[in-house]
Amino acid sequence: FLQGKRALVTGSTSGIGLAIARSLSEVGAKVVLNGFGAAEEIDRLCGELGARHVPADLTTTAGVAELMEGAGPVDILVNNAGMQHVAPVEDFPPEKWDAIIALNLSAAFHTSRLAVPHMKAQGWGRIISTASAHSLKASPFKSAYVAAKHGIAGLTKVLALELAEHGVTANCISPGYVWTPLVENQIPDTMAARGMTREQVLNDVLLAKQPTRKFVQPEEVAALAVFLCRHEAQNINGANYSIDGGWTAE
Ligand code: NAD
Repeated sequence: FLQGKRALVTGSTSGIGLAIARSLSEVGAKVVLNGFGAAEEIDRLCGELGARHVPADLTTTAGVAELMEGAGPVDILVNNAGMQHVAPVEDFPPEKWDAIIALNLSAAFHTSRLAVPHMKAQGWGRIISTASAHSLKASPFKSAYVAAKHGIAGLTKVLALELAEHGVTANCISPGYVWTPLVENQIPDTMAARGMTREQVLNDVLLAKQPTRKFVQPEEVAALAVFLCRHEAQNINGANYSIDGGWTAE
């Protein structure tokens, strides 16, 4: 049902973004991929999805401008690229703070600012951002990430209000822990910050948050993103959908 629509998914060479890109292409969208990775793997993904890849670094405003120019006008914008760093606030490297705020928050402002004129002009558009349970709750040692994700939830509400009369919706999806490289890579730092073993981090920190005691699957996030693009979702605007096994219900 998305034939003729162009979808840009930031950070779509891995994890949740890749699952969203795959699902959007399965329902007919022309997908533009973005993110890092080995050239052969990216070529393979482009072939599989019939997609193009624009390799911009979204930690800079210039990088986002390059991406938007390379992508061309987009009908569906998925702000998904993100990274994590785990450290106590007094040891949190300031450059990590800056990079996480730039990628996880500011990039979504810049992509949206540049995508909105085309969406408004045609009277249809979808802006979907991958927020996080950390847009609603905090965890210790994740100052930059929690600040950025709360910011995404706020930005989404503002976009929703500004664009409501133009056929454009803005929503975010807030997964709990999804088994992707982003989660796997934070295990060693969490072990150090909390003085725990790998098993303890998995069971007592990560899965302890999720009453289902299961990791969320990237495809589950993708299925909701696809639904938000449907005509039936035209009145879903400014929402923040939790997919977290019940974490934020507490
Ligand atoms: P991931 O590490 O598997 O994928 C991240 C993607 O972003 C990759 O394609 C990577 O190349 C790209 N990327 C990283 N730095 C970039 C940069 N500077 N410029 C452009 N692209 C860049 O991570 P994931 O778990 O799939 O996370 C995707 C999103 O979902 C993030 O915003 C993350 O915060 C959010 N999220 C993840 C979880 C989880 O448990 N995995 C939970 C909630 C929210």
